[in-house]
Amino acid sequence: MTSFNKHKILNIHHSNSGIIELILERKDVLFKPGDCMAISSNDAKSRPYSICSGINDNFLSFLIRKIENGQVSKYLSNLKKNDQLLISEPFGWFSPLKNNTNQKNIFFATGTGIAPFLSYLKSYPNNPPDSLFYGVRKKDDLFGINNFTMIKNLYISISKEESKYHNGRITENFSHIPLSKNNNYYCCGRESMINDVRIFLKTKGISKNKIFNEVFFNG
Ligand SMILES: Cc1cc2nc3c(=O)[nH]c(=O)nc-3n(C[C@H](O)[C@H](O)[C@H](O)COP(=O)(O)OP(=O)(O)OC[C@H]3O[C@@H](n4cnc5c(N)ncnc54)[C@H](O)[C@@H]3O)c2cc1C
Repeated sequence: MTSFNKHKILNIHHSNSGIIELILERKDVLFKPGDCMAISSNDAKSRPYSICSGINDNFLSFLIRKIENGQVSKYLSNLKKNDQLLISEPFGWFSPLKNNTNQKNIFFATGTGIAPFLSYLKSYPNNPPDSLFYGVRKKDDLFGINNFTMIKNLYISISKEESKYHNGRITENFSHIPLSKNNNYYCCGRESMINDVRIFLKTKGISKNKIFNEVFFNG
């Protein structure tokens, strides 16, 4: 049975677009970028959330989209600083490895699917991925821009609002994906984006064992 521990909320920020940034005391939690923790509501329902903070931060942070009538995310959205939350130990199978000269990392994220990649960027600031493809609906959904300065190829897409970024879907930038059988392709977020990436890379001859997924939401 999963064991849960109490952690105090150090801060909670609400973006205009309904994403909550939850910052918790870390205690002695050890994790690697890509790991999740299950967060429990007061009626013992729990959901996994990807850790967004870096391995050297002295707090744990999460990016959580508030879902209309969502049992856990709605509960979390009503919490306040200094409230206590029950969270599990870290777990997960999605672990972006550090780049090396032969294998470049290519990251794809939609929405809060940026969280594990932010954890990677904060943990290994001198070892950024070669490319990040990041799609959101609105400008207020964008998180972590300051962590992207070291990324050589950055493709941000905003689908529902005009901005200085590409206006449209993340898929519209796929022609820029660096293709090599040595690269590692990591995708996180909405299932439909992940399927689009897999299909595109398959048609380009990239082996499926070089593509790694974390599906947050089937849609
Ligand atoms: C490994 C893993 C890591 C995850 N990490 C994160 C994370 O870092 N941040 C995060 O916000 N979520 C993350 N999720 C999703 C999260 O676990 C919950 O599924 C989500 O918060 C909804 O839970 P809920 O209890 O609020 O809604 P529920 O009561 O479970 O669902 C209500 C309805 O909302 C739909 N729904 C669920 N997610 C979405 C969505 N994103 N958009 C629209 N509709 C949706 C469901 O299909 C369902 O019909 C992750 C999921 C997995 C599997």
